[in-house]
Amino acid sequence: MSELLKILLVEDVATEAELAVRELKRGGLLVEAVRVETRADFLDKLASFRPDVILSDFSLPNFDGLSALAIAAEHAPEIPFLFVSGTIGEETAIDALKRGAVDYLLKTNLQRLPSAVTRAVDEARGRAARIRAETRFRDLIEFAPHAIVVIDQHGMIEIVNSEAESLFGYPRSQMVGASSDMLVSAQYAQWHAALSQGNAMPSSSVTFEIIGRRSSGAEFPAEIGLSPLPTADGRWISTVIRDISERRAQDERLARMTRIRTILGSINSVILRVRDKQVLLDEACRIACEQGEFIGAVIGRIETATALVKPAASAGIDTEFLQHLHVSIDPTVPAGQGLVGTALRERQSMVSNDIRHDPRLKLWRAAFLQRGYRSAFVLPLMTAQEPFGILALFSDQTNAFNEDEQRLLSELAADISFAHEFIDKEEQINYLAFFDSLTGLPNRALFLDRLSSLLAIDAAINAANNAASNAPFAVVLIDVERFRRINDSFGRAAGDEMLRVVARRLRDCLPDAGYLGRISADSFAFMIRSDRDETDVLRRLDEEVIRALSEPIQVRDKSVRLSVRAGIAMFPSDGMDSDSLLRNAEAALKDAKTAKARHLFYTAEMNERTAEKLALENRLRHALEADQFVLHYQPKVDLQSGEIVGMEALIRWEDPGVGLMSPLSFIHVLEDTGMIVDVGIWVIARAHAQYQAWQAAGLVVPRIAVNVSQMQIRQKDFVTRVLSILDANASTQLELEITESLFMDDTDPNASRGKLSAMREVGLTVAIDDFGTGYSSLSYLAQLPIDTLKIDRSFITGMTTSNEHMAIVSTIISLAHALKLKVVAEGVETVDQREQLKLLGCEQMQGFLFSAGLPADEMAAMLRRI
Ligand code: C2E
Ligand code: MG
Ligand code: MG
Repeated sequence: MSELLKILLVEDVATEAELAVRELKRGGLLVEAVRVETRADFLDKLASFRPDVILSDFSLPNFDGLSALAIAAEHAPEIPFLFVSGTIGEETAIDALKRGAVDYLLKTNLQRLPSAVTRAVDEARGRAARIRAETRFRDLIEFAPHAIVVIDQHGMIEIVNSEAESLFGYPRSQMVGASSDMLVSAQYAQWHAALSQGNAMPSSSVTFEIIGRRSSGAEFPAEIGLSPLPTADGRWISTVIRDISERRAQDERLARMTRIRTILGSINSVILRVRDKQVLLDEACRIACEQGEFIGAVIGRIETATALVKPAASAGIDTEFLQHLHVSIDPTVPAGQGLVGTALRERQSMVSNDIRHDPRLKLWRAAFLQRGYRSAFVLPLMTAQEPFGILALFSDQTNAFNEDEQRLLSELAADISFAHEFIDKEEQINYLAFFDSLTGLPNRALFLDRLSSLLAIDAAINAANNAASNAPFAVVLIDVERFRRINDSFGRAAGDEMLRVVARRLRDCLPDAGYLGRISADSFAFMIRSDRDETDVLRRLDEEVIRALSEPIQVRDKSVRLSVRAGIAMFPSDGMDSDSLLRNAEAALKDAKTAKARHLFYTAEMNERTAEKLALENRLRHALEADQFVLHYQPKVDLQSGEIVGMEALIRWEDPGVGLMSPLSFIHVLEDTGMIVDVGIWVIARAHAQYQAWQAAGLVVPRIAVNVSQMQIRQKDFVTRVLSILDANASTQLELEITESLFMDDTDPNASRGKLSAMREVGLTVAIDDFGTGYSSLSYLAQLPIDTLKIDRSFITGMTTSNEHMAIVSTIISLAHALKLKVVAEGVETVDQREQLKLLGCEQMQGFLFSAGLPADEMAAMLRRI
């Protein structure tokens, strides 16, 4: 112990006190001592001198040791109290220890004094830290923003916080001591039993959904996060409970609306392809069921002679049943008083959100319920002003059709009506009012109309989502260059044929072909939706559309290569309604023609911005072959021993024009363009080569972690490519750092899981990077082939100032341990953070406190020093 220790001596003989102090100094301790011999003096110094330790004689002329001990126990129980005295009987000594003294030494044997004092002070500090941690823990629970309930291994409630009181509606006094079963739906009785079986708790399941129950008896969907709290008196479980009813309902609503938008797009593109009424109706029903997740869809047509409604097309419903379904439009018979009859007579849609209790459906109820229908929605299909039939949709959920959805679905009915009406060849005249007869594409008016309804749908979805659209989309207008020349030199028929080819190619290459139209003789408009930004729109335009269009076309045994120019208007920045979007795309196209540019945006800034991004992309394309990437290495340190136990390879780009560039400025570009696949392989090869080189130079090299992006892992040949690098030498120890999102939005998570398992079989380990920023449940993590969790820097930064972050870090650590995972704290910058992490049992840290990422030679020097 090298810091100054303050000693309070209760001793009447000054020389005795000096002897003790000398002994302590001889033992290597740095001490400052104060001596007292009366009660008053003792009390005073206890407060003013604030000693680290008290050494007391047993009997003094005006005071006595046991009284001093009693005073210390009352006023400063945290300060260790040792007796230093002449012989007193063994019994008195034991009595003194019972009353709280931590040790007893004889004046005749003072050599033991330094070690006794050191130990006493260490123990006292440990105790103080534990008490602080415990108080902090209680505060954390009480002030946490969510309901927290701590239960013991028998499921009895031990602690609740005020959020739990208001969530469940019981006063604290009624919950504490009761069984936690009172807080969950009856079907979950004994839910904790499964968890506390043996030592398994809660290694298999830590975040899950359950039905909670309030004091009123009302039930609600709840998400529960479990952390084990192994304590001296048994295992406790801390559960964090969130009421997710709102979130759940909101998610479902949004998902349904997005599905309806998809249906509309699909129906529109069916209308482009299909010229047969029956096929159109069949397709409409099929799409509604498949994409809208309805369990049944039927289109019925009025049979004028009988006033009955007869099925014309359906999906998801057995036709036998449909044929015998008796539905009429006559209001005087019961079969005409259901949703269908009323919808047709009143010319408006009818909804039943709970078939079980809907008197209008009594005639059909039993059959519907037997087939699992819970909600139904019936829309009239109209020609001009007259209804000719209905579209009925069935869902297996009650309350499946709220107002927003009903509005969107009426668009669907309108589209079907429209197509139905104009497919009839004899109504060519009306058909021509909306479709271009040469290519069969919607004309300008219909294109604008569809665009408007798409904008309205997007607005409805955004309103339901309480957010602005984050997925921008573009209205693109393209123009075939020198079309007139082709017309002139090959003849009009050839020109027509060429336009038909362009229309067909556009229809085939656009994912949203439902929003495509021929705007003028040689120009076509369409929509491109992007899940990113305008640069992405440009790339899609180039790679998916322009490339398809520039395939050579056979015109009268001549192969002609077309070229096109494009003008682009972005929603919402270049226009909020369909007219201004198309107008601005036209203006942009005009600019593109003047500037002889392949494509231009409506606004100059957007052109600049995308130009910059594309330039960056192009420079990056050369970086790999020009060997401009380098790896830096950041050490990972064991929190207990302070030794370097790993490192992370971090990529840098030595851009000749700019200097060393941080991955934050270019990784996303590599990912968006797919270049990350090759660069990622380079990183693994480079790290492997470095490992081998260091080992050959005689260094002890800890495992090197490399970051792999999800796109890389999703490549079919990921495992083979990595193996081909490592094959030559299996001694390289690598770790793959992946992010949670790999599994979250994976269409085939089993494939990724399999690949990681294969990597682990050859000795690689797997870490989840930036943990805590995604939303993956820990129960899901438990099933993944991983070894380590890296807690995201944002939580580490916040942990010493924010209770919530502290709670998150502590929970992650305890859960990770329950799942047998190692924990690495990222971005440790202060001593305070390091000490807290150590207390929480975190294994490793990485961060500027120890070292930033270093060039390979500096890293080697660091390895050499240890
Ligand atoms: P990451 O994998 O979470 O890497 C840790 C990042 O935190 C590194 O930034 C590191 O320099 C930084 N860092 C470490 N300690 C501290 C600290 O105490 N304070 C602060 N403020 N920062 C700290 P870097 O090198 O800029 O890398 C950023 C991200 O780029 C990485 O985050 C990783 O996601 C990605 N990345 C880096 N190299 C590669 C690579 O080779 N492949 C892929 N796919 N991604 C990479
Ligand atoms: Mg990383
Ligand atoms: Mg990280």
